Amino acid sequence: MAFSPKFVARERGRVVVQPDSTLSTVAKSTVRFVVGDLHPLGVGSVSSGSPASVAAPAARLGTLAKFASAYGKPGETVAIKPRVRRFMLQAGAGDLLPKDRVALCLRRPIPGASSVDVLHSPAQQSAHYGGLMVCANLWACPVCAVKASERRRDELSGGIAAWDGQIIMVTLTLQHTLSDDSVTLVNDLQEGKRRLCSGRGYQGFKRVHGVAGTVVALECTYSFGNGFHPHQHILFFVSGLVDVDRFEDELRTMWPSAVAKVGRYASPKWGIHVTAASADVAAYVAKWGKEPKWTAAHEMAKASSKRGRGDSFSMWELLENYTVMGDQEAGDRFREYVQAFKGRSQLRYSKGLRALLGLAVEEKTDQEIVEEVVEDAVVLAQLDLAAWRVVLANDARAELLNIASSGDPAQIRSFLELLGVSLEVLPDG
Ligand SMILES: [Zn+2]
Repeated sequence: MAFSPKFVARERGRVVVQPDSTLSTVAKSTVRFVVGDLHPLGVGSVSSGSPASVAAPAARLGTLAKFASAYGKPGETVAIKPRVRRFMLQAGAGDLLPKDRVALCLRRPIPGASSVDVLHSPAQQSAHYGGLMVCANLWACPVCAVKASERRRDELSGGIAAWDGQIIMVTLTLQHTLSDDSVTLVNDLQEGKRRLCSGRGYQGFKRVHGVAGTVVALECTYSFGNGFHPHQHILFFVSGLVDVDRFEDELRTMWPSAVAKVGRYASPKWGIHVTAASADVAAYVAKWGKEPKWTAAHEMAKASSKRGRGDSFSMWELLENYTVMGDQEAGDRFREYVQAFKGRSQLRYSKGLRALLGLAVEEKTDQEIVEEVVEDAVVLAQLDLAAWRVVLANDARAELLNIASSGDPAQIRSFLELLGVSLEVLPDG
């Protein structure tokens, strides 16, 4: 899809762009100008220079209209770049959660910043922003989630490769209905798991089977017939060869009884799944946290049949149905899910396991991971705050990065000129 600007700066904004020949240094833009009544949605006049004046939820209606048309007609397959899709979903999440940091993520400059940087990593052949707030709400924000899960997936894969024992993957669920309160449901699931993995019985189980530690992944799906389906995948790292049948039999007794202690029911048959096949474990880890493969045709088909009571939706699919199709019920459920999961870890290592797997003992927080800087990044362009506002008003955050991925300042210049932002090339050195 060709990008066409919705709003062109009436008074031309300025951006400092690196000369094509050198990426070594960059000077601060000192240009100041007023965008005036650029924004048609009533945000009002914006003067540059103060970070506080850059309102977060810019042009949301515009976002939805733009992306709805980008999805094409039902039955059509339209290729949307993954980054554009992620930023689109993030805008939808910001609509649903206007008071959450996801509504400001990669929109609002960090306090005190006078510019927004477009950075490029030659090694990774990718571009990213500097000087913007990031939310680190991995349950709500597709942009932060993809970054954090990529890092954590790489780390876990490294740990698994370093482990010379066996790994058994166990999935735990409990019975639930549409009327369950989502917060209580997740609390009960996690408390059930805590009960399972504590006490004298579990110590004996660990000893017999040589369990060195666990990694627990918390996930959730939703169906309109049965409500939220939170579940946990546990990787048991065991040393030596384990009698898998016995391991499984014992867990099938232990899990329902742990769940009963928190007043819940788990079927010994359906409430637990065990696999020791290394291909299953590898496949699970390889796709953990990854976005599903997707085409618009697929989504349209899924949306139209979505009220099949048994159909299972990922949380990103709920968000997508809200963002693209305007499905309010899906949006309400997504908001409820974020509120129920906020603050919980997506992936948790048992005490001492990271050292055994050769990983840094001190695990990075979500915020630390999403704020990680790319070592070799160079500044391709610096946008002053008013120029950034023009990018926001055009919902062009993703497109600008896609163009910057080339590492070519001239392409950035052409793109921003399309938005009415004039450019100032820095003198060499
Ligand atoms: Zn974010």
